[in-house]
Amino acid sequence: MWAIISDLHANLEALEGAIKDIKAQGLSTKDIVCLGDLVGYGPNPAECVDIARDFFICLKGNHDEAVVNEALGFNPLAREAVDWHRSQLKPYWLSSKGKKIRWDFLKSLPATRTEQNCMFVHGSPRDPTMEYILRTDCEDLLGEVPVKIKEIFSKFDALCFVGHTHDPGVIGENSRFMTPRDLNGEFEIVPGKKFIINVGSVGQPRDGDNRACYVLFDGKTVKFRRIEYDPGSTRQKILGIPELDPRIGDRLLYGR
Ligand code: ZN
Repeated sequence: MWAIISDLHANLEALEGAIKDIKAQGLSTKDIVCLGDLVGYGPNPAECVDIARDFFICLKGNHDEAVVNEALGFNPLAREAVDWHRSQLKPYWLSSKGKKIRWDFLKSLPATRTEQNCMFVHGSPRDPTMEYILRTDCEDLLGEVPVKIKEIFSKFDALCFVGHTHDPGVIGENSRFMTPRDLNGEFEIVPGKKFIINVGSVGQPRDGDNRACYVLFDGKTVKFRRIEYDPGSTRQKILGIPELDPRIGDRLLYGR
């Protein structure tokens, strides 16, 4: 069984809460597949990257890429956070070995990985780090499958796990977006059919539920897990860092 997580966004309290729940399922950090965005937004980038070095698989998200390269196409709020994270993470010649190892790890993250019949990406199989598959992309006035969804489904064989939108759910080839609530928290894979599974976000959920979100997958059933943690303490840390916009902390309270 795997625990598939995404979009930690330097939120240590949420990550620790998720890992505690993962361990309670009898799994370890070596069973974790992480779909990227370790950093961006939150107050603890270094700590989250260090924890992620232990995972089975860890991919690169757009915020990870922005920290090691350049923040292209980011809004000012996200860009300020990326710049602060870079200043925290980027080593200089006098920096400790640990800091250099952490930076090298972040720089070397792969964009995609396929294991058995599962493709893993941060955003979409067409554009692994950048493209969003939004629930509105699934809608069509005439009830047809939108071209974007058709094309994305043609890019993988069976299952594709994504993050990036912070909006968990399952999309079938009929382009229906099913939320964890629609599914009662569980979805059984239909052999021979393709599905996109959005695992949601650990560190900054945006579906109106402020609990950390991730999924468990045993090859047959996707289980959405929601984990309560204290977003107020993460928010307090954010408020104490002048380079981070207070709104980044506020949104954690509401899951928006
Ligand atoms: Zn993200």
